[in-house]
Amino acid sequence: MGKVIAIANQKGGVGKTTTAVNLAASMAATKRKVLLIDLDPQGNATMGSGVDKYEVPATAYELLVDEKPLDQVVVKETSGGYHLVAANSDVTAAEVRLMDVFARELRLRNALKPWRNSYDFVFIDCPPSLNMLTVNAMAAADSVLVPMQCEYYALEGLTALMDTIRQLAAVVNADLKIEGILRTMYDPRNRLANDVSEQLKQHFADKVYRTVIPRNIRLAEAPSFGSPVMYYDKSSTGAKAYLALAGELLRRADSKSSQQPKSTLTE
Ligand code: ADP
Ligand code: MG
Repeated sequence: MGKVIAIANQKGGVGKTTTAVNLAASMAATKRKVLLIDLDPQGNATMGSGVDKYEVPATAYELLVDEKPLDQVVVKETSGGYHLVAANSDVTAAEVRLMDVFARELRLRNALKPWRNSYDFVFIDCPPSLNMLTVNAMAAADSVLVPMQCEYYALEGLTALMDTIRQLAAVVNADLKIEGILRTMYDPRNRLANDVSEQLKQHFADKVYRTVIPRNIRLAEAPSFGSPVMYYDKSSTGAKAYLALAGELLRRADSKSSQQPKSTLTE
């Protein structure tokens, strides 16, 4: 059965969308079947996948509010070789409409249920806030991948985020796990970044990915060409880092499947 991973951090600009698009493309390049769900009304993951958010016939709105089946809303042609549920400003309306419906936090989970065997990985790009869309992502996911920048106060923010995820998990998804913490926009010459990185490893141990995403201009340029970085500049450090991250996720999944299940967040 496919694994559903929510990419979340309530802070904006930490690399959620960049990670969603490039990890999805890297996984698809390893011949895995991948679905990317854009839940951010800004639609950056949609545009970054080479799909015009202004022209797309359906978005996460139809999936969540109208309860249309996934195969009727999914875009199968993307520049990254994965399937996409798009987002645009309509998804803001979905957030509002969901407030009035029954079992509103389980809409995404229910929408994905019949399709989980069709994909090896489902990545969800969350908005930079803790709204009903993010709650839907947490309820639908097996685990949360948290991208973060190694800045001053980053640890405080992360501890708060972990608490929030834990509280949410207790209400909507008792099996939710932390997939991993990803250091993004990393500059090894920056002493503060190194210090924060060390503290991170002390606090969160093996939850911190060994793979580090460097600050790389190609990663920032690629979305304006509607392309994941690996198809924009495959020799860039950004492209190599996200391929390495996909490899690390796959190796972790392999080693976990031969172990006892790890304890969940709510224990
Ligand atoms: P979020 O989705 O968390 O708001 P984004 O992925 O959109 O964050 O990243 C915020 C900005 O930083 C974007 O302009 C993006 O292109 C840029 N960016 C993200 N990761 C990197 C990186 N590793 N190196 C350089 N620029 C990056
Ligand atoms: Mg984003």
